Amino acid sequence: MSAPIVQGWCPGALRPMMSGDGLVVRVRPRGGRLTTVQAKGIAALAGRHGNGLLDLSNRANLQIRGVNEAGHPALIDGLRALGCLDDSAEAEARRNIMVGPFWAAGDATQAVYAALEAGLSGTNAPKLPGKFGFSIDLSPQNALCGAAADIRIEAGNGGILVRGDGFETGALAECPAEAAALALALAHWFTQTGHIQNGRGRMATLFAGLAPAARHACLPAAFQTTQALPASPATPQIGPCAQGYLLGFAFGQMTAQTLASLADLGDLRLTPWRMVLVEGLATAPTLPSLITAPHDPLLRVVACTGAPGCLQALAPTRALAVALAAHVPQGQTLHVSGCAKGCAMPAPAEYTLVATTNGFAALHKATAAGRPHSTHSAADLMANPDLLFEKPNAPQL
Ligand code: SF4
Repeated sequence: MSAPIVQGWCPGALRPMMSGDGLVVRVRPRGGRLTTVQAKGIAALAGRHGNGLLDLSNRANLQIRGVNEAGHPALIDGLRALGCLDDSAEAEARRNIMVGPFWAAGDATQAVYAALEAGLSGTNAPKLPGKFGFSIDLSPQNALCGAAADIRIEAGNGGILVRGDGFETGALAECPAEAAALALALAHWFTQTGHIQNGRGRMATLFAGLAPAARHACLPAAFQTTQALPASPATPQIGPCAQGYLLGFAFGQMTAQTLASLADLGDLRLTPWRMVLVEGLATAPTLPSLITAPHDPLLRVVACTGAPGCLQALAPTRALAVALAAHVPQGQTLHVSGCAKGCAMPAPAEYTLVATTNGFAALHKATAAGRPHSTHSAADLMANPDLLFEKPNAPQL
């Protein structure tokens, strides 16, 4: 397989990334939420300046696809008028804050978010690596505890717990302002560890190889409070919930028209599972590309943009994923990736197909960068889906 290019940074609105179908412009919703006005405005801008398609990202952001360079300044003006932009590309990159969707009006979630955003946009903000991010989930289910984040703000026993990703201990805050201040202090501490190299570095790899006791000793004293850590919960199910209705989308993609129609139903909360929670909605609407049933086979397949939308892709991905979806057993996942970078699913999947110059490499219980056990053409896989379930040969004893 040819080596994919690792960019080491995420696109933003002010710093978009070129893809095979034009610029990808990523909008970071404040507080993890788009008001009806913002969502309708973004839908109109995506139709006017993009190719009319929007992607939900696994960082709970919204990406406008197919923007041409000439239209980018007008798109930026429109996003600024909607209150969706930051003062600079650097401030935008730092405002990498994921908010769990199951917060209730009046709980501390949005106050923590506002305080953290203010801290990250100040002159004394920590100089963080490109993909470094924060998560805030104070809900009892702590649905975000398995989502990618470097600093986690969670409901603790007797306060708000602030901890680094992978740390067994954290610091307890009594109020939202203190929680944000602790998260910023931990971020500043991280910048002084020497772990950031060439603009890259993640909290989870900081103590790689160290035993828990040794890790504990390295932490600042304020972050050595022991708490019962949450187990990683299952991905929330599509359907009604206390805050509204959770809706899915085939491959996390929707049209601008679907976004505008959803905005008519209520304010929207974005999630890292590429689902949208429509606030206050009691029944599922009927809209194109919407997944409303929790056992829809399309929820068992994950596929990146693939060719021709991604410049690095070695083949189209989504038609193959759709063709194979019904053959994937319930509770398992097939990941179809346009190259070994595996953007759509960094974690291992039960079954993975990776496009190569030679067909699709098949892998079992691996990430897209793993070692394949066989290679098949897309046509052969569609004609004989059982090829997917071939297992690597057992080692000869
Ligand atoms: S994994 Fe898919 S989206 Fe990511 S770079 Fe490769 S082809 Fe492009």
